[in-house]
Amino acid sequence: MVSTACTQNKEKEASMQNNNVLLEKWTGPYGGVPSFDKMNIQDIKPALEKGMGLNLEEIDAITNNADLPTFENTIVRMEKSGEVLDRVQKYYGIWSSNLSSPEFRKIQGEMAPILSEFHSKISQNKKLFERIKTVYESSLKNPLEADQQRTTQLIYERFAMDGAELNEEKKARYADINKELSTLYTNFSNNILADEENYVVYLTKNQLSGLSDSMIKAAAKTATDKGHEGEYAITNTRSSMDPFLTYSNERTLREKVWKNYYSRCDNGDQFDNNENIAKILKLRKERVALLGFDNYADWRLQNRMAKTPENAIALMDAVWPSAIARVKEEVADMQAVANKNNDNLTIAPWDYRYYAEKVRKEKYDLDSNEVKQYLQLDKLTQALFFVAGEVFNFKFTPVPDGTVPVFHKDVKVWEVTNKSTGEHIGLWYLDPFARQGKRSGAWATTYRDYSTFDGKKTVLGSNNSNFVKPAPGEAVLVSWDDATTFLHEFGHALHFFSSEVRYPMLNGGVRDYTEFQSQVLERWLSTDKVINQFLVHYKTGKAIPAALVAKIKKASTFNQGFSTTEYLASAIMDMKLHLADPANIDIDAFERETLAAMNMPKELVMRHRTPHFGHVFSGEGYATAYYGYMWADVLTADAAEAFQEAPGGFYDKELAAKMVKYLFAPRNSVDPAEAYRQFRGRDATIDALMRDRGFPVPEN
Ligand SMILES: [Zn+2]
Repeated sequence: MVSTACTQNKEKEASMQNNNVLLEKWTGPYGGVPSFDKMNIQDIKPALEKGMGLNLEEIDAITNNADLPTFENTIVRMEKSGEVLDRVQKYYGIWSSNLSSPEFRKIQGEMAPILSEFHSKISQNKKLFERIKTVYESSLKNPLEADQQRTTQLIYERFAMDGAELNEEKKARYADINKELSTLYTNFSNNILADEENYVVYLTKNQLSGLSDSMIKAAAKTATDKGHEGEYAITNTRSSMDPFLTYSNERTLREKVWKNYYSRCDNGDQFDNNENIAKILKLRKERVALLGFDNYADWRLQNRMAKTPENAIALMDAVWPSAIARVKEEVADMQAVANKNNDNLTIAPWDYRYYAEKVRKEKYDLDSNEVKQYLQLDKLTQALFFVAGEVFNFKFTPVPDGTVPVFHKDVKVWEVTNKSTGEHIGLWYLDPFARQGKRSGAWATTYRDYSTFDGKKTVLGSNNSNFVKPAPGEAVLVSWDDATTFLHEFGHALHFFSSEVRYPMLNGGVRDYTEFQSQVLERWLSTDKVINQFLVHYKTGKAIPAALVAKIKKASTFNQGFSTTEYLASAIMDMKLHLADPANIDIDAFERETLAAMNMPKELVMRHRTPHFGHVFSGEGYATAYYGYMWADVLTADAAEAFQEAPGGFYDKELAAKMVKYLFAPRNSVDPAEAYRQFRGRDATIDALMRDRGFPVPEN
């Protein structure tokens, strides 16, 4: 939580400022910024310990208050507490996600159970919970202001969900389970990182057939960086694997790269995660049983939009048959191309992307490599700013070099202001490139959230990607998919910057709703204004030809069988794993049998196979929540149709303002279902999603 500490702590802070940068108050411009340039790994442990100690003192001060519990003396004090620890954890997050190293992973392994114990001390503090409960119950009789009411309710529910009402014996077991889980989560994600670093396929000059110039240059640079001068490196990450499988003509190498990637943490060695998963599932089940729940999914979904696993499954079941039926058609199209070329093969999973690309060219005359030449990272970044200006009324300006510290020279920072008033909104940090020690994929996070209850705090938001760093002087060209992801993560950032909540608690996300804001932003990539201004050729500077745009739009439902099926297989697996009895579970067998029962097409795999399903097993953020992307996409597709129907289309000022007002600015201060109704005047239905993917719309 972000807020100012009480006076007592300020003095303590002052006395330690000379020693440990991680504990220091953020100073400098823009309401203070983290000292990312002074991070010292030796400081982590003492800083975390100090931060935890101060936070516990603050909690004691709340519980020792002799006055009757009130919103002010309990809820507001809680919202103010933990400032020092919160700062330390922002640095900790950078080491964990952006700058990991064996040295850090050792500290992380040591600190995970200690942090878990610390959290239990607060979530299971009986005196604290009694005060919260008193405030909550009295608020039911004498309602507070709406946002205070919701803050109180959310805090009360969080404590109740985390076992605050258990007896002492059960509480002790609950805390032990969380401690064990924290270590398992850390091991799980570190194993993924290890297997992504451990497998690199080095190519020789005669193995590059099919690859584009920019891919070859980037692969050469990566190989050189890894001490393999003169070779070409395909690393074991999605951003390296995916384009290689799409373009390489070398089938045996495709198979090798595919197997490395989809076998991550399933190799029966020290980095194998199967046993970790079985342990995690057992502990989760045992923990929710202490609260009287049958299974983890029931417990987890109680405060989600979906409310129950049955509702989430009903949505997935409604889409699944159309998705696998489409895969059949896609495979038939691909097989026909392979036969026509006399390739003499049956489509295997490592052929899917390759032949899909050939079909794309044949059926839609669309060449991804040609499209890529119009997708430059720099121009796309300008496109983000344009959309943010048109739809959100934000202006992005680069900060002068050296004014805001960064943790790596690749990181760039922009100031975000209100386009009309010039009012400062926050800072946007962008860490675009892949590097050793950085987790794969793309994500958005904040270093500071918006709130006003204790003086206005402005937002420090960040986007992180894994684009392959180009050779010096070369433009960064990205695929249409990667460009879409880039907008997606920026949507999360705009959600942070739009926040208008008074209390930090209200910034919290509802997992099956927080992907709406990011997914909806993806839709602006294919708007004419973005296409005409920012999708320009990297050499000639000429705008993308209208004919090519027409082809892109025509092909928009292309390969939806593949993408919907690979996603849904993972989402359904996530849910089934948590609904199953984990006693004696054999993860490999469970995955195999579940997929067989679902009639999973053999030509593709889950987007995230269970042994490396970090969303679900690196922590609890997306556990029984991976379905949330599709849940949110029901809203996204429906909202996109609202823009298509609006007089000004995607740049309709009135509708854009309505979207920001109801679906971005309130964060979690309004129930998401209610917020959506305010925006659209009705609930969303599945129809728009089915139309969007080119699937038949169910008859009602
Ligand atoms: Zn997202």
